Amino acid sequence: MSNEFLPYGRQAIDDDDIEAVTRVLRSDFLTTGPAVQEFEQAVASIAGTEHAVALANGTAALHGAMHALDLEPGDEVIVPSLTFAATANAVLFERARPAFADVDPGSLLIDPASAEERISEKTRAIIAVDYAGQPCDYDALQDLCEDHELTLVADACHSIGASYRGRPVGSLAELSCFSFHPVKHITTGEGGMVVTDDESHAERIRRFRNHGLNLDHQQRNENQTYRYDMVTLGYNYRLSDIHCALGVSQLRKLKGWIEKRQEIAGWYGEALAKLTGIEPLTTHAGASHAYHIFVVRIDSETTGVHRDEVYDALRQRSIGSNVHYIPTHLHPYYQEKLGTGPGDCPVAEAAYDEILTLPLFPRMTEGDVSRVVRALDEVTA
Ligand SMILES: *Cc1c(COP(=O)(O)O)cnc(C)c1O
Repeated sequence: MSNEFLPYGRQAIDDDDIEAVTRVLRSDFLTTGPAVQEFEQAVASIAGTEHAVALANGTAALHGAMHALDLEPGDEVIVPSLTFAATANAVLFERARPAFADVDPGSLLIDPASAEERISEKTRAIIAVDYAGQPCDYDALQDLCEDHELTLVADACHSIGASYRGRPVGSLAELSCFSFHPVKHITTGEGGMVVTDDESHAERIRRFRNHGLNLDHQQRNENQTYRYDMVTLGYNYRLSDIHCALGVSQLRKLKGWIEKRQEIAGWYGEALAKLTGIEPLTTHAGASHAYHIFVVRIDSETTGVHRDEVYDALRQRSIGSNVHYIPTHLHPYYQEKLGTGPGDCPVAEAAYDEILTLPLFPRMTEGDVSRVVRALDEVTA
């Protein structure tokens, strides 16, 4: 049996990727060149949207989406607590306030009923997080947004390539955000994207990623002028051609990788069915699951061990695992700044005590899955 360290996630880079990057390095444009548009068009095409805007990372994409909403101080945006801190941080960047909604106990996706309870006169938007790679209940969220005149935004950093009732992730909300960090489905090293059908949103985010300037250097060149105006406060959130060339090359492999991830999740499901007290999250019919991560809940009463002991025991057996996530409302910053605390989102808090992310990446074998499940069996026996 192999004793090599098995990480919980790992990127796959092949010779095509390396060639694509070196081609850019030998070309005239390292940034704001043709590879950016090529990558944007390729992502828009799989997301089924009119527009895509590449940004420096997934967090910048979320920041850009919040900027597009033109939020004012005091405005509120509903965010599920069980997500990466960046989802809620993006709301604070634009001087608005995140309101934390609880999650569904089976899927750990935002609970539309809890989101509805958090709506106030100041609420402007809901950010749906497709936790683990499974699309949220978008029909329910869309109804909620229509009834209360809110904008639906998707943090789809886990779910590129998935679909909901036949519609691709990216086309399910007014603005959707992707990340291309190496643990995600496809990587550009660092990178992100916002997709939307709304041209004014796309224009606003393009300006925002380039210091708030009305013309980038390509457009000035075309217009044969040095002149540009800074019309809003923006950032340098551009993604370089080097990154985008890698993205285009990686994207070609996305479909095959998702199929492989679904196959691995199937192996886990079968093997885990023989263990008691370790349950995968529930999946709902009508959605395809991109399996960014494979999360189980470990019931300490049934298994006799707490999740933390399982995490340590897997480490001792050279198996990496992780916990996604510490509920955002429990982070010290949020407790101090917004006065959030234990009891605000009881379902997310109970889940946090039990969840463990098992290794899952396209190059894993059925033998790797057996090794993980055998280790879980030993630890919990
Ligand atoms: C990865 C991730 C982000 C942030 O993306 P970066 O590219 O790391 O900035 C935001 N939200 C979720 C749910 C993520 O998984």
